[in-house]
Amino acid sequence: MTKAEQQIATSVLVIGTGGSGLRAAIELAERGIGVLVVGKRPKTDAHTTLAAGGINAALATMDAEDTWQQHAADTLTESYLLADPVTVQMVTEGAAESIRDLERYGMAFARETDGRISQRFFGAHTFRRTAFAGDYTGLELQRTLIRRTAQLAIPILDSVFVTKLLVRDNVVFGAYGFDLHNGTRYTIHSDAVILAAGGHTRIWRGTSSRRDENTGDSFRLAVEAGGRIRDPELVQFHPSGLIEPEDSAGTLVSEAARGEGGILRNDLGERFMKRYDSERMELSTRDRVALAAYTEIKEGRGTPRGGVWLDVSHLPRTQIMERLPRVYQTLMDLQLLDITTTPIEIAPTAHYSMGGVWVRPEDHSTDVEGLYAIGEASSGLHGANRLGGNSLIELLVYGRIVGRAAAAYSAHLGAQQRSHAALSAARDEVNKVLATNGPENVRFLQRALRNDMTEHAGVVRDEAGLLEGLRKLAEIETRLTDVGVHPDIAGFYDLAHAFDLKASVIAARATLEAALERRETRGCHNRSDYPQLDERLKVNLVWSGPGRIEHEAIHDIPQDISARMREVSSHGKLVE
Ligand SMILES: Cc1cc2nc3c(=O)[nH]c(=O)nc-3n(C[C@H](O)[C@H](O)[C@H](O)COP(=O)(O)OP(=O)(O)OC[C@H]3O[C@@H](n4cnc5c(N)ncnc54)[C@H](O)[C@@H]3O)c2cc1C
Repeated sequence: MTKAEQQIATSVLVIGTGGSGLRAAIELAERGIGVLVVGKRPKTDAHTTLAAGGINAALATMDAEDTWQQHAADTLTESYLLADPVTVQMVTEGAAESIRDLERYGMAFARETDGRISQRFFGAHTFRRTAFAGDYTGLELQRTLIRRTAQLAIPILDSVFVTKLLVRDNVVFGAYGFDLHNGTRYTIHSDAVILAAGGHTRIWRGTSSRRDENTGDSFRLAVEAGGRIRDPELVQFHPSGLIEPEDSAGTLVSEAARGEGGILRNDLGERFMKRYDSERMELSTRDRVALAAYTEIKEGRGTPRGGVWLDVSHLPRTQIMERLPRVYQTLMDLQLLDITTTPIEIAPTAHYSMGGVWVRPEDHSTDVEGLYAIGEASSGLHGANRLGGNSLIELLVYGRIVGRAAAAYSAHLGAQQRSHAALSAARDEVNKVLATNGPENVRFLQRALRNDMTEHAGVVRDEAGLLEGLRKLAEIETRLTDVGVHPDIAGFYDLAHAFDLKASVIAARATLEAALERRETRGCHNRSDYPQLDERLKVNLVWSGPGRIEHEAIHDIPQDISARMREVSSHGKLVE
């Protein structure tokens, strides 16, 4: 046993200090259940803080006709019929209560002069139903939840990297990990575990997430514990991510830049949107603009660095400063580039994992007893396209539901068997990575993986490319067994990157194999060799390991919801 190993016991362990993990922890603590939250990044800087636009709930504060049923109908329409209707109902019906919870915790929502919560349009919603806090909804949400966890004295360790879930006979009994600063090992015993460790968008070169987050940890932890992944191939790409600096590749340039009159050009100076949507041009939908930019780059009309130009320099300077201050500041900070005079180089960027760990709609329990998954780590709500603003409400609603479910599970647990063998295996795995001392460099392999996914499983996919992607992935998997990890006085980040990569290769394999299996074009998933939607593929794809994919039938949509479903234009509405 490593000398500095810490052993902790709690009723429920939450892995992830983003919005979903914190919300679940609050529910548990409010019910008097012992809870410990761990995360691999500072809680004040989880991915959730990046959310800008807002949170959906049919509060009807602006449009009195709005109902949760209409919110459900809009969500199902946007999902290209791959969302689970039960999950959709749980989220949309429970949304108003989640907003009331946030009010109770003191969240500073934007309000009308009479005190009503303001709501705005956000993507393809029939009514104004997105509540917000300026342009910083995610940041305000995260601060609110952190404040509430402090009031409830919930312990949070946000420098602990979880490497393995501890399972015996398909029942979870805790997790194993290490401290990022000093390498101290942690064995955490718990009755139940809530996996809130985010998605897998960082396996692409450009991603709008935080560095070292969304590396697919939820996928690896769940699958190695005995869980499954639903719809890993369904990933939302945002049209405008920065290309440089490398560190920040994928950082979003708000769609407001196009909304204000920004023009897109390829490297030949052509305003290329006229080829793809001559009517709406730059104001076309997010998926169309992403597809157009991707096609220009792929067909050789992009910039040498693989981008296109987004130009707002023709707009009056005052308009830019008043309406796009965040874009102006971001480009100044990251590139010392003045957008009032110079175009911005952008490319489509991986933005949101719509698939995730397979969960039951009623309580987000998984295939492993005592293991739950929530937030971007989970699946079921978004199908093949996410309605803007739905992920924050999902993590709030299911944070409450899963907190209650885990509390009940813990309270009713009669006895729990642990396993020395499982614990030893977890310990040995970390020891082995530290001892290998091979010639392969983790960062280099991460880059190779991200290039592979960007090249072969980006906005547009085809069979030949996906097979080539799998071939390159197999090489990376082999080289991964020979990495050299060198923790030093600065910390154990090198070790963390090796585990990030272990997770990323599993997420990549699931994604490539499911993308190969989905021989159709639907929502975010574009197959150039199968350009039509295929009715027979109105199913979820469930991946349980290399080469193992099942087709899962989707529940019928209740009649009162289906009657409300119709295409809703997102023209002129923000959709981040
Ligand atoms: C730029 C941007 C704008 C967005 N805008 C909106 C919006 O307006 N509205 C909306 O609804 N959604 C929006 N989203 C999406 C939304 O922000 C995310 O889906 C949501 O915040 C995810 O929260 P989460 O709690 O599931 O995961 P995260 O916030 O990603 O948290 C995951 C946590 O897991 C931890 N973790 C991961 N792996 C491990 C491990 N191995 N060991 C320990 N800890 C681990 C991480 O440290 C982190 O604390 C936006 C996203 C981006 C990037």
